[in-house]
Amino acid sequence: MNRGRAESVENLPISERLSLPGFVNAHSHAFQRSLRGRNEGQDFWAWRETMLVEAGRQTPETVRAAYADTYREMHAAGYTAVGEFHYLGLEEAFAAGDAAAEAGIEIVLLYTAYARGGLDRFRQESVAEYLTQLERLRERGIRVGVAPHSVRACPPDWLAELGRYAERETLPLHVHADEQQREVDECLAEHGMTPIELLASAGCLTSRTTVVHATHASAAELDLLADAEARICLCPTTEANLGDGFAPIEQLSERGIGVCIGSDSNVRIDPLEELREIDGTARRTTGKRDAVSLDALLEMGADEGAAALGLEKWPAVEVDLEHPSLRDVAPECVLGALVAGCGADVLV
Ligand SMILES: [Zn+2]
Repeated sequence: MNRGRAESVENLPISERLSLPGFVNAHSHAFQRSLRGRNEGQDFWAWRETMLVEAGRQTPETVRAAYADTYREMHAAGYTAVGEFHYLGLEEAFAAGDAAAEAGIEIVLLYTAYARGGLDRFRQESVAEYLTQLERLRERGIRVGVAPHSVRACPPDWLAELGRYAERETLPLHVHADEQQREVDECLAEHGMTPIELLASAGCLTSRTTVVHATHASAAELDLLADAEARICLCPTTEANLGDGFAPIEQLSERGIGVCIGSDSNVRIDPLEELREIDGTARRTTGKRDAVSLDALLEMGADEGAAALGLEKWPAVEVDLEHPSLRDVAPECVLGALVAGCGADVLV
């Protein structure tokens, strides 16, 4: 079957398509799409050096053009909304919003607070300066979330102030934590507690909080997330590519912690593959084939991501039931086949 996507959509009677909630990409750094296939080898920290060079060369013009391409790639893959975790500066944030509008994807700018480390362009002088920038985005009608980059980048007093602002404004709060063991060790050395414990003590854990990765979270940290009804955003294709490890899926399920997905570095853009990685990891580590239910996986791909971004409505997506990947699949098996055996090209 060799027809183009647009033609196939036009020719399909509605009965040959199945409507689903659109997939939600709750964590993206769109500029990192240009690193796909580059800088293989070594470890996360070596990769980060290359990433910083790429971040350093971005301008509003490059963001506007390259992000529009990346967002089109996301949209074609079935993501109808994206949370862009943005730390390249205010003008580039406006450009990212324009790029999303051009690509026809809903965006929530997870505008990043950065006190120390990284590049000059990432940082603000104070929380007040950060909030002024965030308000400029809100005035422009752009949906935002509060995003302290990490406990590496934001000290406790920043975290506390950002947590209070997010609470007062009922905004989502997203933060990286526990992606690499070194980050955990450094936090313990500096603060005498682990990253998620520090977030809890600073008032940053609520039901509107999403912790990105939590790969190396301890049982005590997972208990804190569950108590606060906070979510975790898993980014399995990126976590695999960077050698981060994988989150303890079964322990998250046992605690009822909400999980959403993100394409993160955009080394791969395919929500079905993210879900299949989560499912595959759970099956491998538990030796069971039902460690995560199909319904739970599909909710991770859509509803949980929307809730993490504070979206009540987001566009739907359709499955091409005539796609070769679904040949000879019975109607009641289509959703299982999506996660087990299809790529994003089955979504139209
Ligand atoms: Zn990230």
